[in-house]
Amino acid sequence: MSDEHGFSTRAIHAGQAADELTGSVVTPIYQVSTYKQDGIGGFRGGYEYSRSANPTRTALETCLAALEGGSHGFAFASGLAGQDAIARSLLVPGDHVVVPSDAYGGTYRYFNQIAKPQGVEHSIARISDVDAVRAAIRPGQTKAVWVETPTNPLLGIADIEAIAEVAHAAGAVLVVDNTFATPYLQRPLDLGADIVTQSTTKYVGGHSDVVGGAVVTATSVSVPGFENIADRIAFHQNGIGGVAGPFDSWLTLRGVKTLAIRMERHCDNAEKVVDFLQGHDGVGQVLYPGLSTHHNHEVAARQMKRFGGMVSFRLAKGEDAAVKTCAAVQLWTLGESLGGVESLIEHPARMTHSSVAGTELEVPNDLIRLSVGIEDVDDLIADLREALDIHG
Ligand SMILES: *Cc1c(COP(=O)(O)O)cnc(C)c1O
Repeated sequence: MSDEHGFSTRAIHAGQAADELTGSVVTPIYQVSTYKQDGIGGFRGGYEYSRSANPTRTALETCLAALEGGSHGFAFASGLAGQDAIARSLLVPGDHVVVPSDAYGGTYRYFNQIAKPQGVEHSIARISDVDAVRAAIRPGQTKAVWVETPTNPLLGIADIEAIAEVAHAAGAVLVVDNTFATPYLQRPLDLGADIVTQSTTKYVGGHSDVVGGAVVTATSVSVPGFENIADRIAFHQNGIGGVAGPFDSWLTLRGVKTLAIRMERHCDNAEKVVDFLQGHDGVGQVLYPGLSTHHNHEVAARQMKRFGGMVSFRLAKGEDAAVKTCAAVQLWTLGESLGGVESLIEHPARMTHSSVAGTELEVPNDLIRLSVGIEDVDDLIADLREALDIHG
């Protein structure tokens, strides 16, 4: 289903035609490992074995590709399984990759503790600064530039178009982690990225009930030597086997159908929470790409439809106030992850980002990260106000 259809039409219908056998309106859960062959090698619909392909997963993969505007979609057991398939498809020992300075902790851990011992080198660059990315590239050795935007948890913004130019000039592939924005708010492939990935555990699934990852490749890749990127990803997806199972694929499909309306509500609520935080004495800096004071607001406004549901802020009184505020809220759930319908609060330095303490990715200890859900925003604000009035 092409871009001629709107986003929600694609989310609800791409890859999800009514089941041919029964007319089932919802894509069935094909809970099956193997398929009867009509004579040796006579595969019905190309299905042979469910690691290689499964109809429920195919529906999800087709839908994900349609939403990102790419040629091929791939669904994995987790966001990190998808990232691993990308890394193995692009990088061999001796190669080099540029990684954002406030990358998702698991992405950094992957490059630092898994890829590096296997001979793949990396440099850390402040991804909101195109010159810093350019300087981190090692001509001839850098095969990939990894971008996350907005970043986690500092809500930094990378200029995808500008970085695509820099990466391609050096013969490197641009990979964008689109988890925070989702294809509803931002389409990296349209801006020159070659591969887009996301943790569908977050907004795409949207209900905190499934772990999964997506990889989508561009229709035409801009880097010589990497034209067959979709084939390489497919090879590694099957060869390593970190695939999304049928039920997980089905849950993710169920989630993605409402992505657009959920994202609009996440954005509405986040904007109101930001307004409230800016007016509270206990709150220091508020980090949100929608603020005109954000260092890269112009870039965010250019490449994003709206600014998303993630908000971070610093407590004027420091770490103790941040920790106590996280403990005092009632409606906000203290927890890791993000992107579900329910609002979450967390202290990155001690929770999601504790593994990067003491590294270049360390985050301020007075920082609180919010994943603003789709509850009634007045209730969310009242709960935050009560906690901040006491501890902020
Ligand atoms: C959660 C997350 C990941 C990893 O995804 P999993 O599904 O947990 O493996 C990658 N990138 C970002 C930005 C994330 O938030």
